[in-house]
Amino acid sequence: MPYKFAFDLSRIPRFFFTEIAKVGYQASVHKKVGKTAQEIIKKFKIDEATGLNLSDAVIVIQDLIDMQARNIREREKFMQTKKRALFLPHCSRKYMDNRCNATFDPNIPSYVCAHCSPDCLINKATTLAKKKGYDVYILPGGSCVPKILSNKRYEGVVGVACGEEIRLGGEITQQMDVVGQAVPLIKNGCANTIFNIETLIKIL
Ligand code: SF4
Ligand code: SF4
Repeated sequence: MPYKFAFDLSRIPRFFFTEIAKVGYQASVHKKVGKTAQEIIKKFKIDEATGLNLSDAVIVIQDLIDMQARNIREREKFMQTKKRALFLPHCSRKYMDNRCNATFDPNIPSYVCAHCSPDCLINKATTLAKKKGYDVYILPGGSCVPKILSNKRYEGVVGVACGEEIRLGGEITQQMDVVGQAVPLIKNGCANTIFNIETLIKIL
């Protein structure tokens, strides 16, 4: 399920994400945060910079904080896992039409990247993760996750998606006793979406 609004944080200064990381850490340790989502929005003028109204901006920022807090809480357990998978969102492919040479295998279910575009985020992420020993899946939606996890029995998964899908994926991994780490989309919209490749590298 996507958010009901579009946002783009890809041009927000990097120290905004450092602040989110700091507040996420506080949330993971103390369960309550020193700074609220509203304070962060005000400090970085997120509503002005993105055109989001305040309540939508609060949802996005709160989800980022919650995601960060959960990553920190699960990190130690995740580091002990051996059999891992990376779930990427199909919406971050460079092309969403037939210029994308990926094939879709409904039996998995996943797209399989054909590496047609060197500057495609999905191509870069797939290559990086495979080198680190991950199985990589490019998913049309979070509903594919249970089937893959039932078939393959991964110990740890990294999921890249928007906040709503990450929340859904988090519930599934918890139910299936799989340790999860998340990387948020910083631009949503279900096409031409963006995640930070440096953030992904750190998480992997
Ligand atoms: S590099 Fe892979 S995911 Fe990206 S457009 Fe080409 S086939 Fe599709
Ligand atoms: S992960 Fe991408 S395609 Fe899926 S709901 Fe979020 S923005 Fe849309």
